[in-house]
Amino acid sequence: MKVSTHILFSIGLFLVLLPFLKLFAFIPLISAILIDIDHYFYYSLTRKDADIRNTYSFFMQLRQKRDEKKQGSRILYFLAIFHTIEFVVLILILSLFSEIFALITLGIIFHLIIDCIEFMTVKKHLALKSKTIYHYIKTKEEERL
Ligand SMILES: [Zn+2]
Repeated sequence: MKVSTHILFSIGLFLVLLPFLKLFAFIPLISAILIDIDHYFYYSLTRKDADIRNTYSFFMQLRQKRDEKKQGSRILYFLAIFHTIEFVVLILILSLFSEIFALITLGIIFHLIIDCIEFMTVKKHLALKSKTIYHYIKTKEEERL
């Protein structure tokens, strides 16, 4: 999902929560947007390039090129650490002990649901996020993005 789309949906969530949470509604808004910073971690670590603009154009080109994908060509995987089941389980556990973490988790789950909806509407995928850290570790070098 594009960052701009995530920002729009997250503002929608913020407006729904605002009457109930007051200023605390900013917490899920921010977590729902910042979760995608993991794409930057992956890109900068694997490409040895710390320029965030290059990360953005790298992932934008990926989504533009997916329509040209040939039948049968393999899907590449990458690790977006904040989009993994292990991370979600960790923050769910932390949410049991802290209301702030519960609000962070709310934003993250909201973000993941939107990512999921986009995943289901796109026909071709050039690259996918590994659902678990374990999956990424088990992925062969040539199948990694
Ligand atoms: Zn995402």
